[in-house]
Amino acid sequence: MELRDNFHRVIDYMRISITDRCNLRCIYCMPSGGVRPIEHREILSYEEIARVVKVAAALGVRKVRITGGEPLARKNVSFLVSSLKGIPGIEDMSLTTNGILLEKYARELSGAGLDRVNVSLDSLRPQRYREITRGGEIGFVMRGIEAAEDVGLTPVKMNMVPIRGMNDGEIEEFARMTLSTPRHVRFIEFMPIGARELWSDDRYISSDETRAVVEKIGALSPVRARKNGPAKYFRFAGAPGVVGFISALTHHFCADCNRLRLTADGKLRPCLFSETEIDLKPALRNSRSDAELERLLRLSIDVKPEGHNISRRADLESLKTMSKIGG
Ligand code: SAM
Ligand code: SF4
Repeated sequence: MELRDNFHRVIDYMRISITDRCNLRCIYCMPSGGVRPIEHREILSYEEIARVVKVAAALGVRKVRITGGEPLARKNVSFLVSSLKGIPGIEDMSLTTNGILLEKYARELSGAGLDRVNVSLDSLRPQRYREITRGGEIGFVMRGIEAAEDVGLTPVKMNMVPIRGMNDGEIEEFARMTLSTPRHVRFIEFMPIGARELWSDDRYISSDETRAVVEKIGALSPVRARKNGPAKYFRFAGAPGVVGFISALTHHFCADCNRLRLTADGKLRPCLFSETEIDLKPALRNSRSDAELERLLRLSIDVKPEGHNISRRADLESLKTMSKIGG
């Protein structure tokens, strides 16, 4: 079974936010006062998430990523991983985390069937890391990455958001990591989502500008992969690791978009940049059949836009924070 949208794209990937809560407060993601959390009873249970994934897998979804908020801040994520991995059709399970609790859970997650992790890390300097995350300790993250590598949750992909005047001086250092380790270092363009206090046009650094800094180290050759999603990947000659660039605002990846998002409170969001959401919770909680869930899943594919119309960064400002949507 293959799920195709109206623009001939195969939809086989679901990103699932399991919580909007977080144990950090990154200054580019959350306002200093935090965001009002979704009430606990509105958050999908693991059983409800598994039911959605079972129906989605029967339709053709093959890959699942667990995210948040901070997914490892929710209890017993390994239980969810093993139940999702056990669903026929699910071939690939990954998780995006800030890494603070990764050392504690890496082995258990791997044992439960997790394949890989993405770790967000925006500075290699302890004091700057503390400032960016409003209190995080980088030692936990570095030990988390090592633990993930030890148990085979690889390749570890590191997400870094370069912001002018904050961590832009570290772009080269991050890229150099790929010369000596098999890590994937991905530079994500800063978006004006959720970070009103920090955002300004001057702080934004385009992927092209980041790439120009990285290329001072040496020439980059494209890495071919069947599906790269929104990232463009490159490698320095002979390097074990990979450098990636993710630009939210250029349209180049809409044509290859293969994903659906499920928010922590049970809404299917066909496009990150559109407020259109389809609420699965009534069907999940009013003992409706799986056929009704299937209808809603198909509906969300039907309304998946061909591309986002955002050409100006200011257009993003009305969107919810990434911690709410599920980054
Ligand atoms: N807490 C986990 C983490 O930090 O990896 C998962 C959720 S977080 C919302 C997912 C990703 O969204 C992170 O890599 C983070 O850097 C990115 N993100 C959050 N706010 C962003 C913004 N305003 N611009 C660009 N990326 C952002
Ligand atoms: Fe939390 Fe991730 Fe947002 Fe940082 S980027 S505040 S770790 S959800």
